[in-house]
Amino acid sequence: MNSYPDHRTLYRLPWTLPDNPIVWLEPTSACNIYCEGCYRANTKDGHKPLDEIRSDLETFARYRNFDGVSIAGGDPLTHPDIVDIAAMVQKMGYKPIINTNGVALTDDLLRELKKVGVRGYTIHVDSQQRRPGWQGKNEVELNDLRLEFAERIARVGGISCAFNATVYQDTLQHVPEVVDWAQKHIDKVHVVVFIAYRQASGAVADSIDFWVGDKKVSMDDVVYNRPAGEQRLDISSRDVVAEIRKRFPDFAPCAYLNGTEKADSLKWLLTTRMGTRSKTYGYVGPRFLELAQVLHHLRTGRFMAYAPPALLRRGKWIAAATWPVDAGVRRIVGRGLRRLLTRPWHAFHRMHLQSIMIIQPADILADGRMSMCDGCPDVTVHEGEIVWSCRLEELIKFGGFARGVRKQGRDHDVEELRVGSTPEEAQIR
Ligand code: SF4
Repeated sequence: MNSYPDHRTLYRLPWTLPDNPIVWLEPTSACNIYCEGCYRANTKDGHKPLDEIRSDLETFARYRNFDGVSIAGGDPLTHPDIVDIAAMVQKMGYKPIINTNGVALTDDLLRELKKVGVRGYTIHVDSQQRRPGWQGKNEVELNDLRLEFAERIARVGGISCAFNATVYQDTLQHVPEVVDWAQKHIDKVHVVVFIAYRQASGAVADSIDFWVGDKKVSMDDVVYNRPAGEQRLDISSRDVVAEIRKRFPDFAPCAYLNGTEKADSLKWLLTTRMGTRSKTYGYVGPRFLELAQVLHHLRTGRFMAYAPPALLRRGKWIAAATWPVDAGVRRIVGRGLRRLLTRPWHAFHRMHLQSIMIIQPADILADGRMSMCDGCPDVTVHEGEIVWSCRLEELIKFGGFARGVRKQGRDHDVEELRVGSTPEEAQIR
């Protein structure tokens, strides 16, 4: 089992239930393609009316202090009022961020959404999607599609560009290629997110009963209970880090969110690098992240969602201001200065910041407890309450979240079982 990194050496992101950079708005559950890792049932007529969407935003505002709204789904671009929805978010004082598969993202729509204040896109591209024209392509080949999106977003200008991909057993090996590709386009790609694949099927189904209140429930019809076949359901954030470090041995995460039941789980694991298009100079350390989070919160009263591209390309200024407090930044500055001795013209190259987030979704422990992300950013609204968006289907089907209980008399040779899926996997729906 991989043990790197030790969570105690990282900065625990200060995000909590009531104070968090983002929320997860689902204006629709309809989608225009299929995605294997999706956690939401695709319902054709799943669009919410604008009044209900406004009411969801008011519910978020009642419970949570936040900066950005991930407008997700389903695929939000299938909603006929997507421009009005983004405008509504902006008028209420939050950053609209579109989480989409990008299939319906035309250049006209990009410009229209920019006009009403959209500040970022997270585009879900991975090889287990049924995407017209791209089926059968592997993660490396899909970098061409990612680049197409990144260039189109860059042409509109001033908008943050992020990509996410579900990580499967057979695509884990390609993660370093995607990390490498992102570095080469560090001027246009601001965040890359990898999400470990999960399902409630497999060993879990054999070992755990699920209960809501005093009723035993069957997960059979829940969308994240697809037969997993040979797929691994236990890929952890540390496994993804280990794979990346085979190619980039100095890859060093700096901050995390733990699990609600396991302090040492790395449910959201953040790595931030500084570099140019031709070279990564290094990785910022935990104190850099602490400073960034605390300063922004002191200045604005919120944790920052989606830093603007104009800030992320000021790597040299940021490094000059923060090297005294952070060892990672000091290493970056040292490498940069040494490089200037041999290639002085590099003084004119822009230094950018780019983040790589690894998400390890809901875990079921051997005794049936479910370990969620402590300080879950992606809460959505259900019946006037904020809830984990990755398990919304349980609320819809059973009226409550299922509790896992270990079957009596069963021997458990597994230390930890995992269930669930994430909304990030389903941004294309
Ligand atoms: S929605 Fe689920 S997977 Fe996503 S952050 Fe929250 S608890 Fe974690």
